[in-house]
Amino acid sequence: PLVLGIETSCDETGVGIVRGETLLVDAIASSVDEHARFGGVVPEVASRAHLEAMVPTIERACAGAGVRLDDLDAIAVTAGPGLAGALMVGVASAKALALALGKPIYGVNHLAAHVAVDIVEHGPLPEPVLAMLVSGGHSSLLLVPDVTGDVQPLGATIDDAAGEAFDKVARVLGLPFPGGPHIDRAARDGEITIDFPRGLTTGRDLERHRFDFSFSGLKTAVARWVETERRAGRTVPVAEVAASFQEAVVDVLTRKAIRACVEHGVQDMQIGGGVAANSRLRALAQERADAAGIRLRVPRPGLCTDNGAMVAALGAQFVMRGREPSQLSLPADSSMPVTEVRA
Ligand code: ATP
Ligand code: MG
Ligand code: FE
Repeated sequence: PLVLGIETSCDETGVGIVRGETLLVDAIASSVDEHARFGGVVPEVASRAHLEAMVPTIERACAGAGVRLDDLDAIAVTAGPGLAGALMVGVASAKALALALGKPIYGVNHLAAHVAVDIVEHGPLPEPVLAMLVSGGHSSLLLVPDVTGDVQPLGATIDDAAGEAFDKVARVLGLPFPGGPHIDRAARDGEITIDFPRGLTTGRDLERHRFDFSFSGLKTAVARWVETERRAGRTVPVAEVAASFQEAVVDVLTRKAIRACVEHGVQDMQIGGGVAANSRLRALAQERADAAGIRLRVPRPGLCTDNGAMVAALGAQFVMRGREPSQLSLPADSSMPVTEVRA
């Protein structure tokens, strides 16, 4: 089936088109630059940018794929979770398209779409798969027996998301927003010399939060360390701090993800979300997966961050597996639970 997917949960206006399990085009417009001076995504600014970018991005996607809207078999759209106003722009656009074209609409869960995108990269999804989603808004471990119907949350962050921690620490180090890629780059020139805390990895914390994450203590520890250096009049060794902080994050992420695979008897693991672009995370995950005999799949960085292709990829799975479409009245649900794969 030929499926167009629309993503507007955060600051990316994404429109992707897939044919079955083949990606035809992934068009994207981002308002990230408009948010940079605020140091974070401003919902109002994001919604407005989606509204302006939507039609041109749809046109660009169709032109890029060489398809006409009439050729489409279904429309898929992120129904949640995400920023309410931003989601609403995507959902309203998708409804308009579905109604005008007389095609079914699938309102899909953003997190499940992050998992499904790897289908257009590496082929059919092994199920069950253990998915680790790490982005600016989420850090979750998901057990996925069926990406169109059965997604089970094993754990999540209890405070900051992994990407949020990267962004906040980058700010402390005077690096631009979004900070993840800058920390990644800075860390390449730095040695891991500072032993920053690994949240929820020992004793009672680990018992009670086996597959949960906590990055707020780490963020505070880095801020305090940097502050101490500045007070003492020393130059902050940005590369070393970046490398040490990054190691603390990816150590915990990979350790818990691998443990989740082992304890649930899952042989395949996948990483998605913007932080999956992190070079150290990719390397350490591969190393630890190899050691544990687990197959690892990580899409290319451009498909890890928010995009329309992931929504189209999941939509196509719904069609191919004969799942019911959503009602045309489907709501945008900013707090859509991950267990609800389709609205
Ligand atoms: P959502 O959480 O709803 O998916 P989002 O826009 O925050 O929304 P993404 O676009 O998937 O999610 O990811 C953005 C996040 O990924 C930012 O926090 C950014 O700093 C982080 N990031 C991007 N590249 C890297 C990298 N190389 N290393 C670490 N973090 C990165
Ligand atoms: Mg984003
Ligand atoms: Fe996302």
